[in-house]
Amino acid sequence: MSELLHILKERQGEMLSSLERLVKAESPSNSRELVNKSGELVEHLFAQHLDIRAEKILQSQVGHHLKLTYGKGVEQILVLAHLDTVWDVGRLPFRIEGNRAYGPGILDMKGGIIQSLWAVKTLRELGVRLKKRIVFLITSDEEIGSPTSRAYIEAEALKSKVVLVAEPAEAKTGALKTGRKGVGMFVVKAQGIATHAGNNHAQGVSAIEELAHQILKLQQLTDYEKGTTLNVGVIKGGTRSNVVASEAEAEVDLRVATAAEGKRLEQAIFGLEPKLKGSSLVVTGEMNRPPLERTAAIGALYGIARNIADSLGFELGEASVGGGSDGNFTAALGIPTLDGLGCIGDGAHGENEHIEIDKLAERAALFANLLVKID
Ligand SMILES: [Zn+2]
Repeated sequence: MSELLHILKERQGEMLSSLERLVKAESPSNSRELVNKSGELVEHLFAQHLDIRAEKILQSQVGHHLKLTYGKGVEQILVLAHLDTVWDVGRLPFRIEGNRAYGPGILDMKGGIIQSLWAVKTLRELGVRLKKRIVFLITSDEEIGSPTSRAYIEAEALKSKVVLVAEPAEAKTGALKTGRKGVGMFVVKAQGIATHAGNNHAQGVSAIEELAHQILKLQQLTDYEKGTTLNVGVIKGGTRSNVVASEAEAEVDLRVATAAEGKRLEQAIFGLEPKLKGSSLVVTGEMNRPPLERTAAIGALYGIARNIADSLGFELGEASVGGGSDGNFTAALGIPTLDGLGCIGDGAHGENEHIEIDKLAERAALFANLLVKID
């Protein structure tokens, strides 16, 4: 075990330069062409280091998804990762400052791809036989809600004993993620009656006024104790200040800790009733990602990881977080899912997005040992 860590430490520079290449091959979710280019580099890296070919899951709207299978075990471990980022090209140039490497998607989650690849590469070179085959599923649309990859993720998860997610660790602590909130996205549209704001104010029905009532109701459904939050993050409406607005809408982000709470809130949002006479409401949307709820099996997986960390000489906590990932889908199917196995760093999706370079080897060693220990 310590030999593995030792070798990976010697290879930290090599991992970092491959990561630099991958980060520089920028891949915003909305550019199919760039995601595919970046995907070609991933294919090349897996061919070079593991001698395996990617199976492309072709897409017409977003970049292709990649499936890479290593080993021949009867049972399967699924490693989930995504190649797309939230970054438009050129916004956050790659740079290194001290122990930090910055760049678009370096933490979320190209670093996780490189670490897991080096984990398997090192096992392979040491001649360690894995009992299970490892399937890497590297998708192209996670940052936009996984509309095209979800079905593939779920199908692979159902064939797997466990799912390991190479998303970043909890910021600052490096903890694994054994709980994630479910995420719902809704749009509430109010309709009123447009009139001249001066001549016919009384005959008008303001969609904006109606929506204002609904916004307060929505926000008040927040219950921090239950872990339920509602955020009206975008509002639009009206045309001119001298016109009573006939249309207005609000975009709502819902987060819940349990599936039951998701159902309850979904009902509450669809059950909203208009307050003003003559106005109406149209609600659309749904729970996009179910919550990742910590089960006994997830707790046991975390226990294995913590023991490995102990023997490698570092502490490894667990955390429950508000953000969702593709691990939410697999956990909701009842497949034990351990998330947050990627890089340690901070600032995902923000100007400060970076990884801690000197943790690359440690995390890759953790990943490699997990692949060996899971049975
Ligand atoms: Zn991510």
